[in-house]
Amino acid sequence: MQPTEAPPAGPAIASEVEQTVQPQQCIRQGCTNMAIVNSDWEDEYCSSECVVTHCRDVFGHWVQGNSTPQQTISTVK
Ligand SMILES: [Zn+2]
Repeated sequence: MQPTEAPPAGPAIASEVEQTVQPQQCIRQGCTNMAIVNSDWEDEYCSSECVVTHCRDVFGHWVQGNSTPQQTISTVK
């Protein structure tokens, strides 16, 4: 009686499991740091400072775009 030996798993299997999510770069403009994993920031920023700055940036642009009355309601023919 000899113990049943499990077939040796190929080395390729182990390396494929190794693939993890690649850290992406902080999405704040001008920031070159890598984003860190944080559930509050959706892993898009490197620090809370960038979260605030980026949000302010986006909001600033949004306000700017909205405050400029570029709408021409009646088109001149
Ligand atoms: Zn950053």
